Amino acid sequence: MHNITVLSGGMGGARFLRGLLHGIGRGLVPGVDADAVVTVVANTADDLWVHGLKVCPDLDTVMYTLGDGIDPERGWGRREETWSTKEELAAYGVEPTWFGLGDRDLATHLVRTQMLDAGYPLSQVTEALCRRWLTPTLGDRVRLLPMTDDRAETHIAIADADSPSGRRVVHFQEYWVRLRASVPAEAVVVVGLDDATPGPGVIDAITDADLVVLPPSNPVVSVGTILGVPRVREALVATRAPVVGLSPIVGGTHVRGMAEQLLTAIGVEVSAAGVGLHYGSRTDGGVLDGWLVDQVDADQVDAVVAGGLPCRAVPLMMTDLDATAAMAAAAVELVAR
Ligand code: GDP
Ligand code: CA
Repeated sequence: MHNITVLSGGMGGARFLRGLLHGIGRGLVPGVDADAVVTVVANTADDLWVHGLKVCPDLDTVMYTLGDGIDPERGWGRREETWSTKEELAAYGVEPTWFGLGDRDLATHLVRTQMLDAGYPLSQVTEALCRRWLTPTLGDRVRLLPMTDDRAETHIAIADADSPSGRRVVHFQEYWVRLRASVPAEAVVVVGLDDATPGPGVIDAITDADLVVLPPSNPVVSVGTILGVPRVREALVATRAPVVGLSPIVGGTHVRGMAEQLLTAIGVEVSAAGVGLHYGSRTDGGVLDGWLVDQVDADQVDAVVAGGLPCRAVPLMMTDLDATAAMAAAAVELVAR
């Protein structure tokens, strides 16, 4: 296998990608060439405009993680970050104060916004930013593609007693960062998604792949939004490549993040089997040929298989690069023909 395509969100996807590349480079992923090319189709529905700047959290998390610029403790933003600009904006009383942009990170958003203002599409802006982060460390082994160049933004409906409708809709980042996903989500609406066009190279990356992977990313607001870009789901259903997924739900909840709240909002059972069957088997109108669950969820394998989806239980905690590479190897083995 030479061309691997991964549909990624931020933190979970980025960690998986690091382990995958580590494993490929060391020959730990059987059947995959040592010089294989990994194409990342990244979620952009978390994107927001803040202080006049375009911020793309998932693209940046992937870029910084693979380029070794990520803050390893936080898992987002730049390492050795400082926050002077944030403090100065707060001193002026400028809202929002809940979304922190670090001083180093700001440079990325300034460059991105200037290029967008000059008329470049997000895909070309991303390519330019990756020349700093990915080319020096990884050469031509990784391509990072926004799922779309169009604006599509996830919004979350929450209960609000003060509103006449009893509801209020907030941007996904406000739900996650300001509200800490602590109030129940009633609905997930991705504004603009139905009219979005897949980014350049996205459909080809799925169609021409030797393997497509759904990493342990959020099934609703990361993978779910990518699958919601018109023609992406159809490309997955039609591709000749095997499509394999890894569960982000372990032991009945997300490892980190807010997948539990959002799965509940869309009516999907919060379990490894529930997410696998939500994606569904390609033999039955779904998008997967195989599904990995964590070893603690081994008792759910039979239910997934009964749903027509080949399934195995293996360790799925991305504790270090070798453990993550072993997950990638198990995923390839499950669907290798
Ligand atoms: P985000 O955009 O930063 O939220 O990142 P993703 O959507 O790519 O990934 C978030 C998902 O990763 C969450 O649902 C987590 O449960 C999952 N996740 C994080 N770490 C791990 C891990 O070590 N193992 C597994 N199986 N899932 C994980
Ligand atoms: Ca995200």
